[in-house]
Amino acid sequence: MEEKTSDLIIIGAGPAGLSAAIYGRRLGLSTTVFGDTPGGNLYMIESVKNYPGFHEGVPGMQLGMFMFSQAQSEEADFTMTTVDSFEKNDERFTVLDTSGNIYTAPVAVLASGSAPKRLNIQNGTLAGIHYCAMCDGPLYRGRNAFIIVVGGGDRGGHVCVFLSKIAGRVILVDKGPALTMNASLQKAVVTAENVEVLLNTEVRAFIGETELKGVLVSSPDGQHKELSADALFLSVGWIPNVSMVRFPLAASPEGFLKTDEKLMTSCAGLFAAGDVRDSDLKQILTSCADGARAATHAAEFLRLSR
Ligand SMILES: Cc1cc2nc3c(=O)[nH]c(=O)nc-3n(C[C@H](O)[C@H](O)[C@H](O)COP(=O)(O)OP(=O)(O)OC[C@H]3O[C@@H](n4cnc5c(N)ncnc54)[C@H](O)[C@@H]3O)c2cc1C
Repeated sequence: MEEKTSDLIIIGAGPAGLSAAIYGRRLGLSTTVFGDTPGGNLYMIESVKNYPGFHEGVPGMQLGMFMFSQAQSEEADFTMTTVDSFEKNDERFTVLDTSGNIYTAPVAVLASGSAPKRLNIQNGTLAGIHYCAMCDGPLYRGRNAFIIVVGGGDRGGHVCVFLSKIAGRVILVDKGPALTMNASLQKAVVTAENVEVLLNTEVRAFIGETELKGVLVSSPDGQHKELSADALFLSVGWIPNVSMVRFPLAASPEGFLKTDEKLMTSCAGLFAAGDVRDSDLKQILTSCADGARAATHAAEFLRLSR
């Protein structure tokens, strides 16, 4: 078992955590980053087209690796492990990782992002139900598959466009009266020849014994119908990754962390950045900006408290 101290602990190696690491190191803080995936959720994005500097788009995986390499070149310490428990003891933050190692620091940035929400329906673990199109979509290539995507927001839009290039047919289902994704995604969805959009439609049941065979959906007129499917990709919202935090923090009703104007949480010395934070825009650019600001304010907090 290793016991290690540093100036700054960062939980999460996505855009927010890696930006915090770059800024933390450049401000002279010894920095330890915990993360299970270099680049965080960026691996789920086929092509990022709204991050400045890449006018032709950049694969999310590649952008994530660029950020990771940059943080490594600033000599942040990476422990690519999952944080099991995050505590505050005697004015220091303490991390216990899944390998049983202990790390402490006087300031910390929580940049642990969010994870896909599941539907509260039985049989949610059937084979064929997926949450990551980039990871699992290619399983259906060349099979003329019939795929259902649930969720008409920006992320559901990305998923739908990506899968339309793989599947024979895609149905995008949303329980709302209109798609909420941005205009360019909406255009791509409605002009794809093999995509059909079903609004005011809610998934009620998954059909299948061990493998998904289809879904039962309802529409507001009370009618239920079965849609057969080879696979279903869910994109119905996100829940913040905060289960490792062992002390109370102010949060929104959905659990996203409240912060002040310096991105400090309700616990002194703990800052939050990126998708885990209660904010109005959850994007790569805003996550990077959060990471930079959180590390800068963490350094200031440390200087003033010494
Ligand atoms: C399909 C899809 C398409 C998207 N498209 C775009 C787009 O085109 N443009 C755009 O700007 N944004 C897009 N986004 C949103 C963007 O990916 C997020 O806003 C961004 O990744 C958030 O960064 P983050 O660092 O806050 O969190 P994340 O990227 O979620 O990274 C957090 C990391 O922390 C890890 N973590 C969590 N708990 C622990 C723990 N206990 N121990 C260790 N590590 C932990 C997580 O596993 C994760 O790897 C898209 C997202 C998805 C899913």
